[in-house]
Amino acid sequence: MSVAITSLERAALDKIVVAAPQMIATLKNWSNINSGSMNIPGLHRQLAQIKTVFAELGGTMDEVALPPTQAVDGAGTPYEIEHAASFRLVQRPAAPIQILLTGHYDTVFPETSTFQTVRAVGEDQLHGPGVADMKGGLLVMFQALLALEQSKAHQNIGYTILISPDEEIGSTGSAGLLAHHAKLADLGLTYEPALADGSLSGARKGTGNFSFVIRGRSAHAGREHHLGRNAIVAGAEVIQRLAALTGAREGLTVNPAKLEGGGANNVVPDVAVVRFNARLAEPEDMVWFETILQQIRQEINAQDGFTAKLHGGFTRPPKPMAPPNAALFAMTRAAGGALGLDIVWKATGGVCEGNNLWAAGCPNVDTLGVRGGEIHSDREYMIVSSLAERARLSALMLFKFASGDFDAKALRKMK
Ligand SMILES: [Zn+2]
Repeated sequence: MSVAITSLERAALDKIVVAAPQMIATLKNWSNINSGSMNIPGLHRQLAQIKTVFAELGGTMDEVALPPTQAVDGAGTPYEIEHAASFRLVQRPAAPIQILLTGHYDTVFPETSTFQTVRAVGEDQLHGPGVADMKGGLLVMFQALLALEQSKAHQNIGYTILISPDEEIGSTGSAGLLAHHAKLADLGLTYEPALADGSLSGARKGTGNFSFVIRGRSAHAGREHHLGRNAIVAGAEVIQRLAALTGAREGLTVNPAKLEGGGANNVVPDVAVVRFNARLAEPEDMVWFETILQQIRQEINAQDGFTAKLHGGFTRPPKPMAPPNAALFAMTRAAGGALGLDIVWKATGGVCEGNNLWAAGCPNVDTLGVRGGEIHSDREYMIVSSLAERARLSALMLFKFASGDFDAKALRKMK
């Protein structure tokens, strides 16, 4: 597959290059705002910045309040995690082609992180929280859409932008909103960072976060040891069973991540919380895995003096390289080819909103953001020249969906 760039498109793509210094300046400002997923005031500051910039696109903007997420604390007590709002912008909702563009404005760096500011490294790198994941990607999305709005050819395309506050903690608050709009769209474009060499992510595993709350019976460790029911010993046994499930299905990994419980040496502990993550490659394995978890829960409940509760679930189903996703990748690759970019992709155990969109039947490519690396660490960096490079890639894709060179309507019909 190959595409040619028209002279009108060329002129619009050239404008993106002219806008690059402004993109860099904005990205520096944004990276200096702490927007850790739990820092609600910081998220609000970042959201205000996004609204100011994205207003230039026109369309209808709003903030969508999200439901709180149910969680469980170290004593096994349920509580709620509040979220900031999702940003939404709707443009030409009656146009024949509808595209969903998604991203997130939270980062993994909490308010207490020592990694708070951006700095330039050498000629072509910025180092800072969220520069790659994904404040740079949000600006790539914006600049590509601005090019579309300024072009003469946008009337065929409408779009919805969703920018979430909770991607880095599993998108549990925004999941319903993402699914709603994903069902209405012909395709999705998501702005997670590409690898530093420009590769995109291909097939993605699915993921779930769970916790078992196990309750036993406390007792004096000396006088009445025989009356105690040691919850952390039961929890440790559960951990062994969970760990042994790794590989029981092709691609399944189970990571027991934390065991909480216990206290003084002379008390039999009466509560344990076992937290774990599971990743798998096939959607049908989710049901199989959850059945095993229910068996484990029932076995604990059958033991004298113990009860177990299971919290959590799968938050992002797998996103395989199914024909619609492969066809959209071929279009991405063709657009890249016209711009002199050799776009390839690699399978990954990582997950993102692209999983959510695919679960709602929406074909998508999810690493259209900047090139960068060492994300989720205080060494996170992005490659400055990739801001314009990747904005041009997305803009050209949008032009080709509008012109019909890329058939947006064909993707969902593929089996
Ligand atoms: Zn991200």
